[in-house]
Amino acid sequence: IVRMQQLNKHFGSLHVLKDIDMEITPGEVVVVIGASGSGKSTLIRCINGLEEFQTGKLEVDSNELLPHGKSGKALQTIRTEVGMVFQQFNLFPHLSVIDNITLAPMKVRGWSASDALETAKRLLERVGISDQADKYPSQLSGGQQQRVALARALAMEPRLMLFDEPTSALDPEMIGEVLDAMRELAKEGMTMVIVTHEMGFAREVADRVIFIHQGEITEQGPPEQLFDTPQHERTQSFLARVL
Ligand code: ATP
Ligand code: MG
Repeated sequence: IVRMQQLNKHFGSLHVLKDIDMEITPGEVVVVIGASGSGKSTLIRCINGLEEFQTGKLEVDSNELLPHGKSGKALQTIRTEVGMVFQQFNLFPHLSVIDNITLAPMKVRGWSASDALETAKRLLERVGISDQADKYPSQLSGGQQQRVALARALAMEPRLMLFDEPTSALDPEMIGEVLDAMRELAKEGMTMVIVTHEMGFAREVADRVIFIHQGEITEQGPPEQLFDTPQHERTQSFLARVL
């Protein structure tokens, strides 16, 4: 569902992503790990066109994203089909929980208000917060807000979900509830690319773990292999610091 070939991304003189090759197949759960500043966020933001790249090829769900942001209509299609959950929940503060979730399906997908509402209720139940539907984001805990963000992304019926450190802004006691919701989603077969520092979670849900160092994929493989017998010295020293 994602095919990235020889992708390069610069921020001015900073070469942030270097010849990245990455393929993600439907239903796969891929976890991206690496030190701060290694390019993890930039990598996944390229997948839904939030960041432009300069050279290389990128295809997402059979839509081609072009270098220098010249993707045109493909970009819109990709944005509707790829859901994203950020570290900061990015909910609309002036909208209730339910309105946060129904907005995009009605505006972008053209659903009726009643269809959107029904779906939103079902999703809130699924992430365990049906009782919060009429509150505003500021009235919720961080863990609840992040689950609303997840429900909002899922309401668009995405083909692929991207997560950028979804639990990093949460108090420790709220991390579990968000990871549980993500675990459920993985079990249901959602294709997911997840940037996280939760190594236990990564080991448990990932089909594949990718380690990035200074904008390059240093090593990747099934979690047991990457965590237990990392081949590359850089992977070893990174893991020694975080595990
Ligand atoms: P972290 O774990 O801290 O989130 P990361 O692996 O997600 O780090 P990125 O955010 O992808 O790293 O950043 C990669 C590099 O690109 C860093 O050196 C960062 O300073 C730089 N960078 C990121 N965004 C921009 C930007 N908008 N303009 C200029 N440089 C940027
Ligand atoms: Mg980041």
